Amino acid sequence: MSLINILEKDLSHKKSYEGLSESEAKERIRQYGTNELQAKKSVHPFTIFTDQFKDVLVMILLACTAISLFMGEYTEAIAISCIVLANAIMGFAQELKTEKTLEALKNMAAPVAKVYRNGNLCKLPTSEIVCDDVIMVESGDKIPADAVIMESISLDVDESILTGESVPVSKQQHKNEEVQNELNKSYLIHMGTTVTKGRAKAKVIATGMNTQMGKIADMLNEIEDEQTPLQKKLEQLGKYIAIGCLLICAIVASAGILRGEPVLDMLITGVSLSVAAVPEGLPAIVTIALAIAVNRMVKRKALIRKLHAVETLGCASVICSDKTGTLTQNKMTVKKVFTLDGTLEVSGDGYEKAGDFKSDGQRVNIRNDETAQMMMEIAILCNNAEIIDSENSFQSRDRAVNMAKGTHKVLGDPTESALLVMAGKAGVTSKSLETEYEKIDEIPFDSTRKCMSVIAQTKTGKKVVFCKGAYDIIIEKCTYAKQNGGQSGITQAIKQKISRANNQMAGSALRVLGFAYKEIVAGESKENYEKGLTFVGLAGMIDPPRKEAQQAVKTCIRAGIKPVMITGDHKETAVAIAKQVGIFHDGDKVISGMELDRMDENELAKAVTHTTVFARVSPNHKLKIVRAFKKRGHIVAMTGDGVNDAPAIKEADIGVSMGITGTDVTKEASEVILLDDNFATLVVAVEEGRVIYGNIRKFIRYLLSCNIGEVLTMFLGILMGLPVILLPIQILLVNLVTDGFPAIALGLEPAEKDIMKRQPRKASSGIFSEGLLTTIIFRGCLIGLTTLAVFVTLYKMTMSYDLARTGAFLTLVITQLIHVFECKSETKNIFTVPYFSNMKLILAVTASALTVFATIYVDALRPIFSTVPLEKSHLVIVMGYSMIAPIISSVVGMFFNNKK
Ligand code: ATP
Repeated sequence: MSLINILEKDLSHKKSYEGLSESEAKERIRQYGTNELQAKKSVHPFTIFTDQFKDVLVMILLACTAISLFMGEYTEAIAISCIVLANAIMGFAQELKTEKTLEALKNMAAPVAKVYRNGNLCKLPTSEIVCDDVIMVESGDKIPADAVIMESISLDVDESILTGESVPVSKQQHKNEEVQNELNKSYLIHMGTTVTKGRAKAKVIATGMNTQMGKIADMLNEIEDEQTPLQKKLEQLGKYIAIGCLLICAIVASAGILRGEPVLDMLITGVSLSVAAVPEGLPAIVTIALAIAVNRMVKRKALIRKLHAVETLGCASVICSDKTGTLTQNKMTVKKVFTLDGTLEVSGDGYEKAGDFKSDGQRVNIRNDETAQMMMEIAILCNNAEIIDSENSFQSRDRAVNMAKGTHKVLGDPTESALLVMAGKAGVTSKSLETEYEKIDEIPFDSTRKCMSVIAQTKTGKKVVFCKGAYDIIIEKCTYAKQNGGQSGITQAIKQKISRANNQMAGSALRVLGFAYKEIVAGESKENYEKGLTFVGLAGMIDPPRKEAQQAVKTCIRAGIKPVMITGDHKETAVAIAKQVGIFHDGDKVISGMELDRMDENELAKAVTHTTVFARVSPNHKLKIVRAFKKRGHIVAMTGDGVNDAPAIKEADIGVSMGITGTDVTKEASEVILLDDNFATLVVAVEEGRVIYGNIRKFIRYLLSCNIGEVLTMFLGILMGLPVILLPIQILLVNLVTDGFPAIALGLEPAEKDIMKRQPRKASSGIFSEGLLTTIIFRGCLIGLTTLAVFVTLYKMTMSYDLARTGAFLTLVITQLIHVFECKSETKNIFTVPYFSNMKLILAVTASALTVFATIYVDALRPIFSTVPLEKSHLVIVMGYSMIAPIISSVVGMFFNNKK
């Protein structure tokens, strides 16, 4: 919720709140630099490039090649170097792109600050704040620079990041003492600390590295660079596979040497095989895939702050969502007004000014209804929203830019905006009350208190407190009720009448707010301001569900994910909306904040199974709810916006914050930011999470089975006493054309049609679950055996090792390029996969096939790759054998699927 307009409205006449002009600010940035801590240096592209050669195996290979060059074997040595270089360039290009993507995301997640420029309050990137800027901070904001407080209302700041002090400290406005930028000064606020309560205006005195934060700059809290659990697991697995591969390669090389093959040749063969087969690039390719996914998600309005969230998203089994603004549009319109003198219907849509009040179909002039008139006044006075007409709009980067003539814009919290518009329809505006009341203090709204009060002074010096908030909270604070032009004690019967009116409005999905006031008696302490109030009335406002919400909820349920609504609103209102969007069904349970307070952990964990709505909850209840679902073994996504939601967001498996209404604190605690605050976007993110995890499994399956195939070919060849099946240059080329683009293209596979019809994956199930490892090994063996079979068959036919080798070389590539299509789906086989759903894969496969045919049929390339042209009959053999493997694996797959 944004309250940025209030002080601006009250204090805009003071010169000191004009702030700097844009040109002054620009000049200061030019002179003193931007307001940034020296960020960790991003990796230089050159380093990324040289890193590609840091692999020990590649270095050994290059060393061996250099030796063979020295010994006069020019062609092969140069060709090997070129292939290694090509591999490095490909790795470099991908890594650079990944770096750039992640860098761009960091910038997108960069915080903004509210600052006065040219007299207008606007939001700017924190980096653009300069000394002498006047900034505005409020609950949930991260403070953008060190600043002296000029004015504050109940300001508490969490400075733990700087001082280690875990309790928020109270801050006051600067009096007359000399300003010294030191910690623990009550008139200073510091960059990087967060406002937990209240708000303030302050003048910046230090930016960037000159701030207290700058002095301990390495505490920079950026997007996590840490590896995801999957990457860690794969790195470990990669090590085991590497050791296995290296052993086999050593055996292959030693056996060759023992059989009398030239030592250097066998060394190069062994190392080339290792380079090709060791999956050292696996974690890197996973990062690339995750970065691609993150990019795709941001295009769909879900900003991922921590890479590991992409993996967890696909496991989500419960989504706990706020109601207001996430499932609903957060465009409120008051539809009903209740006072003890009668109920009025309010006409009009959205924030349109047109509309009137009717009682039993008859137009009512509010001026003739003292109680309703009082309610309109409270609605205006106890309000921080603002209506801007085109006539008094102003230029700003963030607000009311170029409004068409005759239009208006409402700025501020939607609940309060609706109340302003309602009062406007009754002819009551802030202008009309300006002469009567002067606002002197405020007890701000927060989601736990569920109400707010403004203290105003009349011309005669009377102080009045105006209070509005959730119906049940207000009624508890009232001892009197306004009726028939007077006021009387609030009796049980009156309370029941009000309660009936509330239930009736809430039951038709209206959010209900209560209104009350009292005159403050001289000497009354602030703690008592909100006690003994006089009840005035209720306003019921609609907040229609978002159009996409219903479909998104349906998708969730079909995908085995339980959507749960968590709201500060009343039970009846919550259930009515939950029914409309399809979250609440007959037989489901609703738990209120009060009931939740009475339950212990175990009771709640039992109760959550059948609960789809939590109503009248405070942010601290959210933490209990997350824990209860987790206790039941769920993977929980939890949304939040306010500062108090941060603990629950942190506790959730997937913390989700709101891009528009979210505070800096919640954003920082979250893994995912919904840029449009929309529930449907979260469902889209879950879908993307599932897609990417599936794609990672796809290319792991592909890469590993191909590597097994390559190693097995060479190993079995040696065991069978055959000469080396493939030469080093051939092995390296196979690696280049199969592991490169086709594998990356697999990472770009679009969503399979039934992806959101499957149950969520279990978080505990490993990447090789559901028999993936068996499939990989089985398919790898088939690749190896097929290649060997071609070698033997062609040798027997032609008695030429070169021709047999060329056939084996071509088979190894073709069989892998066919296999890549099998890897597109875990449920379909080579005959049923959708071949053309990913054109990038088709292109990658075509390019790879053309390359390998070129090495056989282009005269100039043949000597380099030691190939000979194959005749038609040879090609038939190669193609025939290459097709055997997918046919066998399809048949075996069908057999096992039937058995399941
Ligand atoms: P949800 O939890 O569904 O997102 P919400 O965020 O609007 O809803 P809160 O902001 O916690 O919920 O509000 C809780 C209750 O406080 C509301 O039901 C309403 O009765 C009351 N309320 C909301 N906004 C204000 C306000 N600006 N002033 C006074 N009372 C308010």
